[in-house]
Amino acid sequence: MTDFPISTLHGDDSLLIESVALSEIAERFGTPTYVYSRQALTDAYHAYEQALAGRRATICYAVKANSNLGILDAFARLGAGFDIVSGGELKRVLAAGGDPAKVVFSGVGKTVDEIRLALDACIGCFNIESPEELDRLDTTARAMGKTAPIAFRVNPDVDPKTHPYISTGLKANKFGVAYSDARALYRRAATMDGIAVCGIASHIGSQLLDPAPVAEAAERVLALVKQLNADGIELDHIDIGGGMGIRYDDEILPGATRFLAPVLEVLAGRPEALHLEPGRSLIGNAGLLLTRVEFLKHGEEKHFAIVDAAMNDLARPALYDAYHAVVPVQRSDTPAQTYDVVGPICESGDFLARDRQLAVRAGDLLAILSAGAYGMTMASNYNTRPRAAEVMVDGEVCYAIRERERVEDLYANEHRLP
Ligand SMILES: *Cc1c(COP(=O)(O)O)cnc(C)c1O
Repeated sequence: MTDFPISTLHGDDSLLIESVALSEIAERFGTPTYVYSRQALTDAYHAYEQALAGRRATICYAVKANSNLGILDAFARLGAGFDIVSGGELKRVLAAGGDPAKVVFSGVGKTVDEIRLALDACIGCFNIESPEELDRLDTTARAMGKTAPIAFRVNPDVDPKTHPYISTGLKANKFGVAYSDARALYRRAATMDGIAVCGIASHIGSQLLDPAPVAEAAERVLALVKQLNADGIELDHIDIGGGMGIRYDDEILPGATRFLAPVLEVLAGRPEALHLEPGRSLIGNAGLLLTRVEFLKHGEEKHFAIVDAAMNDLARPALYDAYHAVVPVQRSDTPAQTYDVVGPICESGDFLARDRQLAVRAGDLLAILSAGAYGMTMASNYNTRPRAAEVMVDGEVCYAIRERERVEDLYANEHRLP
């Protein structure tokens, strides 16, 4: 279990996260609750820093993985930059004390309002994904008397060999500008008064287990950088995106140092700074979803553990058929049985785990592991379910970093007929 920040004390029955018992967190904050380990996210960040030692580099945490202010604050204090995909995420970063100069703004559909917000905040770089977006940025920046720093996100057309929904660097994806168009676009951008060319970016996908496709993308990007240099265009940074995978089940992972080694080799000796945009690998295994078993239901073909968390809290199993390890928080002397762990939502897709051997009774607590990334940020209010509380554990203390939503909050902005 070394990838997960949980342990059992010798002679104790209850699972701990750092030095705090999960049963105590359930008692204090209720369930379902997302619980994060500050130590685990710090360790994940330091692993990247170590892998990049001696290089001019910025680790831009991908905010969409988990955008809670407490999480952003923790990364800001570690010195991280931020990769954002909306004006909303920018406001979060600013509210959490993040440095706007270290913000990169990705995404295919930036609105004029979002661009204005980002120009006002003086962010570090706009990652441009289309010629139309370049024009919009140039026009908006000039109208504000500003110059917008940009990188083009190029689509290197390499197959990251991951789930189709989370692969982004193929020709058929909506992301980035075509590799073959990039050189001409840079030349055009270099002539624009509202634009300052400062970098190049690529991001090929998520939950990558193999570093080879990232190194291949870096090679293609580097070939382009050399062409740009020949055109008299110098860049300040090369952004190789995020995407490093984490262990959910029995995946074998290289770790940050070995994952980045091939990329660092490709870019060895280059004057440009390196930018990274990791999300999942910084926060995924630092978080878990704590839930309580409401009922055990014994169907004709299957046994169900019906819990108080559901697909609205953690969508990944329903959305990607994703695997999350499930561990009982307390030891039980009941015999283990094979359960589907399901929520109370009226959808057959509402499951969190399938066919798991669990020794549980009604009322027991379960920890759904590896839920720190793309968990809370993808949560919804489906079935008018208030979203979960979020708790940060820091050594022997823990505190709420988000209060549990109240049902009244959910319809506070709605109106009856006039
Ligand atoms: C989602 C995303 C990331 C982060 O991906 P992870 O797999 O969470 O590391 C980085 N960059 C961009 C542009 C993204 O869209």
